[in-house]
Amino acid sequence: MSINKFAKRYFDFKSYLLQTFGEKVYKVTIDAGFSCPNRDGSKGRGGCIYCNSLGSKHRVNDKLVTSIEKQIEEGKSFYKKSVSAKKFIAYFQTYTNTYSDLSNLKRIFYIPLSDPEIVGISIGTRPDCVDIDKLNLIESLLTDKKEIWIEYGLQTIHQKSLDFINRGHTLKDFTDAIEITKGRGIKICVHIIVGLPYETDEMIMETAKFISQLPIDAVKIHSLMLLKGTLMEDIYNREPFDFMTIEKYVQIVVDILEILPPSMVIQRLTGDGYREIFLAPEWCINKLKVLNMIENELKARDTFQGKFFGV
Ligand code: SF4
Repeated sequence: MSINKFAKRYFDFKSYLLQTFGEKVYKVTIDAGFSCPNRDGSKGRGGCIYCNSLGSKHRVNDKLVTSIEKQIEEGKSFYKKSVSAKKFIAYFQTYTNTYSDLSNLKRIFYIPLSDPEIVGISIGTRPDCVDIDKLNLIESLLTDKKEIWIEYGLQTIHQKSLDFINRGHTLKDFTDAIEITKGRGIKICVHIIVGLPYETDEMIMETAKFISQLPIDAVKIHSLMLLKGTLMEDIYNREPFDFMTIEKYVQIVVDILEILPPSMVIQRLTGDGYREIFLAPEWCINKLKVLNMIENELKARDTFQGKFFGV
């Protein structure tokens, strides 16, 4: 049985970080004040239907009020006090973190990279918001001591669903982004959403199969959540649709794990956070329960990540 040496039936991010850095590494989330081309009109307006426009607690009226340096210090100090943390990854999470000019990107990414306690950065972005120049810049910031991750939101390979959720990019945009990112030493993580309205089990598994064959290092699997202040809230109020049940979600996630390569790091297996603006489905708010049910299902099936990879 292929279970990693940390005894999980899937290759979780915590284990990957332990293996790579020899101790626990904690993620400090950063709002660098970026916008999103799917909100400001250059790609679309209103954003993806599940995306809330509030940004983070570090901005007021869409203006950043806490410097990146201060956010890093506050994040590190929280983990230092609570769990005596020594190593950190800075996660540029809010909105589209490559949506700026090269000199601004260099300045911003260099802030955490120049911190000796930060062992890597992770840059969340859209596949249609990178180009060769931006990737050359990111590659030039790599050193043998620090990792740089780029996280591409794909969500689904199905154009009908991409249109429905108002992503404003195509599957081709995504495959082009992977093509120009691979082979540079930049680690690639892809986000998908399970439970999109009107997607069948077959469609979800087609997305999973597709990413299982890509030259990527990690995946984040999100459960669809309905949040206040989103376009999806309006859609749902006008025409309610069914959310996936927790039982179904767990089954599908285990099906997905079985076909992913054993070496692909699983950075996330469900949604997280957003308690203040969360609306539905109710089970999504209890992340621990979802994770436990996934573990139990893996055990009950006596299965593991990669069992059917390439089959
Ligand atoms: S989910 Fe990401 S790409 Fe979509 S609107 Fe929000 S910030 Fe932009």
